[in-house]
Amino acid sequence: MRIGLDIDGTITRAPEFFAFLSKALMDAGHQVAVVTHRMDRRLTEEELAEYGVQYHELILPEEFDHEIAEWKIEAFKKLQPDVVFEDMLDVVNGLPKMVVSFVPLSQKHGDLHYA
Ligand SMILES: [Mg+2]
Repeated sequence: MRIGLDIDGTITRAPEFFAFLSKALMDAGHQVAVVTHRMDRRLTEEELAEYGVQYHELILPEEFDHEIAEWKIEAFKKLQPDVVFEDMLDVVNGLPKMVVSFVPLSQKHGDLHYA
């Protein structure tokens, strides 16, 4: 499988989980890519290393003259992922329907809310 991971609001929300998940997926032979609309590759690589998140590919924008969700949708589409973890609903809604997407939710007073 090809797996796409967002960082902010996704990996940052549960870094230990994504460290475990990314290693388990890679050990089992799956392709893991991190897709983020961040500017600094080196700082992002350092942060992911601190979390212990592993990946084959880290995809960042080369230019910043676009709308974030549009860029991420295109970046994920190029990746052709089977499964995506992403906290922006606009991104998830723009992906092909066969992509299985997981969106973090917060829980307040027993009700689930998009966070
Ligand atoms: Mg995010």
